[in-house]
Amino acid sequence: MEKLRTVRGVHDLLPDNLHKHNKVIKAGLNVSSKYCYSEIEIPIFEFSEVFKRPLGKSSDIVTKENYIFKDRSEDELMLRPEGTSGVVRAFLNAGLVQDIPQRFSYFGPMFRYERPQKGRLRQFKQFGIECIGISNSMADIEVISLGYEFLKKLDIIGKITLKINSLGDTDSRVNYRKVLIEYLNDYRSKLSEDSIKRLSENPLRILDSKNAVDQKILIDAPNVLDYLNEKSRERFENVCEGLNVLKIKYEIDKNLVRGLDYYCHTAFEFMTDELGAQGTVLAGGRYDGLSKMLGGVEVPGVGWAAGVERLALMVQSEYINSPDIVLMAQTEVYNHLLLPIMNELINQGFKVEIIYTGSMSKKFKRANKINASFAILLGEEEVAKKVIKLKNLLLGSEQLIDLNQGIKIIKKHLKLTGAKFEFKK
Ligand code: ATP
Ligand code: MG
Repeated sequence: MEKLRTVRGVHDLLPDNLHKHNKVIKAGLNVSSKYCYSEIEIPIFEFSEVFKRPLGKSSDIVTKENYIFKDRSEDELMLRPEGTSGVVRAFLNAGLVQDIPQRFSYFGPMFRYERPQKGRLRQFKQFGIECIGISNSMADIEVISLGYEFLKKLDIIGKITLKINSLGDTDSRVNYRKVLIEYLNDYRSKLSEDSIKRLSENPLRILDSKNAVDQKILIDAPNVLDYLNEKSRERFENVCEGLNVLKIKYEIDKNLVRGLDYYCHTAFEFMTDELGAQGTVLAGGRYDGLSKMLGGVEVPGVGWAAGVERLALMVQSEYINSPDIVLMAQTEVYNHLLLPIMNELINQGFKVEIIYTGSMSKKFKRANKINASFAILLGEEEVAKKVIKLKNLLLGSEQLIDLNQGIKIIKKHLKLTGAKFEFKK
């Protein structure tokens, strides 16, 4: 029979890789909780309205990247492509508008029907934060600073560049949109198919195009920062000033946008050269228009999402899950007697594996392979005398000893060798 495959762009996570993912997520939760962001969990699938409504006119283009399906009651559902819409919907549904600001963190799988390649999957994980209810630019600085501290905690900040830009308020964007369309219209025939579609519906999103020809055309495109009105410019300057105070280095990138209509003012990305073409590890911006597009009142918000897979490729972390002690019986009839010993040992804080079958030499081979420090053996003599045989696998020494005495010796030894070990409190 043919081997069962996973869907393209959807991968298994084996323990050593998952360990890295968890390390990334743990660091995210840890740093964000110190900034008083509280973890929230939102559904993995929702009515597709939640994601489509805020997209407005550009929904056709964007939803082609999405997993949409009808369930048995003919409801149109979508696997979440991102976290922000769901978090803001949850915020509105819970009536938290009366209780702002709210700061949230979240993590979990996202789904996008994209062309799979390195750093671009169809099921991937994001860790993200949202700061909802503060329109002041200090919140923009706060979330960027949190992102920076997160990457610092992962020990990769040296390989990262921060790029920022401002899209300005609605007035500034309307003005800019006009000149951008004028400019791009001259190159209409050379633009990629997607960009031609976006020209009338969502021209700002063209700035984000990955197409090489588009990118060339964009080099001389008008600069969004030249079209910011005074209020928006001052706001952007304040964000830059905040980063200066924090000594966070940044580059201003005039073509950096978040492509959806509800984004405004600050947009930012943390990028690296280490991952090839898919170099953005964390991206965010301000989305003051989102809440209203979701059917709520106007509530400002700013946040970011980080790609867990991309970050996991950058972090150093060795996965070790070796037992402190292996248990083995000389003959299988004594295997049952190992069970209560195992439970006693794990209750004392040790990591334990029982090796059930095979000759004694095979069992020792396995103990060696999994890097156990001690072995406890039960044979006829031990059972008769109600003791254990304790073998120090590093030194090769062995002794017949009472279980409790043995535990004391193992604890002493593991403490001396500095092995990571949690004693029972
Ligand atoms: P890109 O420009 O690479 O398509 P995006 O603008 O679609 O990214 P966001 O929606 O802002 O990305 O998502 C934030 C982060 O999530 C990205 O910077 C990236 O690290 C990660 N990410 C996005 N899409 C994918 C994917 N298909 N596979 C893996 N990670 C992804
Ligand atoms: Mg994308």
